[in-house]
Amino acid sequence: MPSAYEYTKEELAELLTGEPRYRADQVWHGLWTEGQDIKEITTIPKALRSKLGEQFPSSLEVANFVESDLGSTQKWVFRLADGATIETVLMAYEDRVTVCVSSQAGCAMGCTFCATGQAGYSRQLTIGEVIEQVMFASRAAAPRRLSNVVFMGMGEPLANYATTVGVVKRLHEYKGMSARNLTVSTVGVAPAIEKLANEGLPLTLAVSLHAANNETRNELVPLNKRYNLERLHEACTMWIATTGRRLSFEWALIDGVNDTDQAVEELADYALSLRAHVNLIPLNPTPGYLVMGSSGTRVYEFRKALEELGVNVTVRNTRGRSIDAACGQLAQVTNGKRRSIPVRSA
Ligand code: SAH
Ligand code: SF4
Repeated sequence: MPSAYEYTKEELAELLTGEPRYRADQVWHGLWTEGQDIKEITTIPKALRSKLGEQFPSSLEVANFVESDLGSTQKWVFRLADGATIETVLMAYEDRVTVCVSSQAGCAMGCTFCATGQAGYSRQLTIGEVIEQVMFASRAAAPRRLSNVVFMGMGEPLANYATTVGVVKRLHEYKGMSARNLTVSTVGVAPAIEKLANEGLPLTLAVSLHAANNETRNELVPLNKRYNLERLHEACTMWIATTGRRLSFEWALIDGVNDTDQAVEELADYALSLRAHVNLIPLNPTPGYLVMGSSGTRVYEFRKALEELGVNVTVRNTRGRSIDAACGQLAQVTNGKRRSIPVRSA
């Protein structure tokens, strides 16, 4: 049976037929306003609560938990009903609290430098499974308020289009989250970017670029062979024209691969032509990719060179590295090839 978060307000009210209307409102309030687990909504009678708990079981079972950065970065490995595992990362900053959610169990895109890509694909996640990650994190963040949701965990959100759109709509309409606080990160599924632009949804789009010449990008991001940089540029142009919103590019800096002076020029041309923001990510280590991340000095120089060319650029911090919770390090046991869950101490 799906999670209670799978349903719209009307659908849920219908599933509660036999109960007075105000009960449906109480359940809805508990789920969305309070972010409570259905079994813990104390405004409804105990018997109904336990019946609803059975009717709408929670999708997530905690299989593992690790934390680092003095507890301000926390990662959960969740086991889903069919045994697939996913990961969710909560990051508390001074000015915001962000949850990084998975949109698929594993990923089929096979980016060479990404642990999720290296481990392979299991299945799509449902709307309920993604929303439950947000609600779980929201409870864990208390008393602070969860402010941001980023689709940067396992999986390619635009290869699970219906779920991604459903989740964004619900977080906006039911949880009251604002557009600039919801970020979908995509590896560049061009037709899906265009479709998303037409949804009129309140969200921020980040595109994982990593290379601005086709030869290098084909190596790093195999999807580039299907939607190359020219095709991606078209989709980005359409996104900006349709939504009126700024785009950002993610670029994981890899020693000698995409941190050269030539790469600076190529990236600057591509980003400036779309007036996009660039977010540099120092490459995080993964077991299946032995090339090193750029040195701290090179990250600094690369950033500076971009700035000098007029590019709007920031460097993302490497939160969660010691617990394999940083960008691209989420892999675990999704495809069943790796049975144990390795945990390094923080
Ligand atoms: N599939 C989506 C979202 C998940 S990946 C995407 O690719 O955009 C989230 C971000 O982490 C992406 O920008 C991805 O390129 C980046 N990433 C993957 N592996 C990484 C690594 N080893 N070091 C740093 N960033 C990495
Ligand atoms: Fe999938 Fe994104 Fe990793 Fe590529 S970088 S394999 S698209 S999760």
